[in-house]
Amino acid sequence: MKEHIIDLPKKIVIGEGVINKTPSYLQELGISGRILVITGPNVYNIIGKSFVDMLAEKGFYVDYKTVQSAHIDVINSIINEFKDAKVNAIIGLGGGKCIDTAKYVSFKLNKPFISIPTVASHDGVASPFASVKGLGKPTSVKTKVPLAIIADSKIIAKAPYRLLASGVGDVIAKFTAVLDWRLAHKLKNEYYGEYAASLALLSAKHVLCYADIIRRGDEKAVRIVMEALISSSIAMCIAGSTRPGSGSEHLFSHALDLIAPKPALHGEQCGVGTIMMAYLHGRDWRKIRNTLKKIGAPTTAKELGIPDYYIIKALTIAHKIRPERYTILGESGLTWEAAENLAKTTGVID
Ligand code: ZN
Repeated sequence: MKEHIIDLPKKIVIGEGVINKTPSYLQELGISGRILVITGPNVYNIIGKSFVDMLAEKGFYVDYKTVQSAHIDVINSIINEFKDAKVNAIIGLGGGKCIDTAKYVSFKLNKPFISIPTVASHDGVASPFASVKGLGKPTSVKTKVPLAIIADSKIIAKAPYRLLASGVGDVIAKFTAVLDWRLAHKLKNEYYGEYAASLALLSAKHVLCYADIIRRGDEKAVRIVMEALISSSIAMCIAGSTRPGSGSEHLFSHALDLIAPKPALHGEQCGVGTIMMAYLHGRDWRKIRNTLKKIGAPTTAKELGIPDYYIIKALTIAHKIRPERYTILGESGLTWEAAENLAKTTGVID
């Protein structure tokens, strides 16, 4: 057996007002002194400033940076600024861009990373994988497992509902991701971990079961989606790759990001991709579509705001995004006609 190392987060806190307890969580983790907070300009105005002040009042020496994108140039400038600073931890406070930037910076500086998401729109909030622009690839890169995740349901519930619904799309994607993983195992003898696969599927089933509650968009809904996002991230930590969380539906979403004039949210695109890939796998795609409808996530090209042409085009190029990742799309992908039929049959396009 080859060595298989599993890195997991040490502390996961979900609940109302938990952000205010950050200083004591940091102390419990043995972190003191200088801390770097990476956040966004809007988040800083709304909660970031008082967060930084709170840490300072509790005796931490806090630097903060606001970022508008997770671009490698932005990341490198932060790395250069702080490479000789004696920073003991890096906190990502905000949405995907802040979290991804903080994750990558902490990876490069080899410092503990703490994730404090303000939205539940995708599973990057808890996983070791980051989407970084400017690296020349649309997929995520492996970085660092968060030492802690502090998810304040009160703050996340205040974010637009669309973001939460998008998070559900990213969780539902685990259905086809796991099917693709199994297929790659059977056809390509790729490593497959039953436990990680089961855990990822459990996350997807969790949101399927609680669709009615999620639709309310309240704190309870946030808790359900956040738990599912975190447990699917844990599945990826256990597998050591994004395999349990990302299959052909993600390739479709990455393809849309490359070609669509105005891509939709990551989780929204993955949700629609899951409907179509479930059809290809011969699974109950209607159930997935109905759940997405129930929670108010997009299920059609129109609802994504993407013209039909790009949906079909994305389906035909998705297999090229990450050739080493074998999925139901196979090695040669879908023909234009097959892609069009698939999108029509599943009601994604008219
Ligand atoms: Zn995803």
